[in-house]
Amino acid sequence: MPNHENFPSLNESYASSFDKGDLPLPPSKHLTVVTCMDARVEPASQLGINLGEANVIRNAGGSAKDALRSIVISQRLLGTREIAVFHHTGCGMLTFTNESIRDKVKSEAPGDSTVAQAVDDIDFLAFSQVEKSVKDDVNFLKGNPLVLKDTELTGWIYDVATGKVKRVA
Ligand SMILES: [Zn+2]
Repeated sequence: MPNHENFPSLNESYASSFDKGDLPLPPSKHLTVVTCMDARVEPASQLGINLGEANVIRNAGGSAKDALRSIVISQRLLGTREIAVFHHTGCGMLTFTNESIRDKVKSEAPGDSTVAQAVDDIDFLAFSQVEKSVKDDVNFLKGNPLVLKDTELTGWIYDVATGKVKRVA
């Protein structure tokens, strides 16, 4: 059975005790977290963030480059002033390269030049070392002209084996 068939009943139980309907749109902690889509990562519980307190931007790897569009909106329109880059051990981004994922997509559509062109246009932003990826992303944000100068920037690694976080930038 597809998961979505359970959504209505699962949501009914959530909504039955829901009492946060008055929260304002801007995050109350003025915080943005940039993190990975990995199913083991859940910044709300791992960093003690409640509903309404932070913008959490997720993508494969928690790439700050990929998140830039959302970061600009978060800072300029929603008033956030602190960004935490939150990557994790055992990240899937450590397991492939642009070349290997492009080859895979192309091999699944043999001879299709539209697919080949489209996948060649994507930089998948893989990395080979988690700590370096965090530092690179923090430096990217520090040096980006669209990120506000007074932004409080930190970088973190979450350990999927222990549940612990470590600050690395
Ligand atoms: Zn990941």
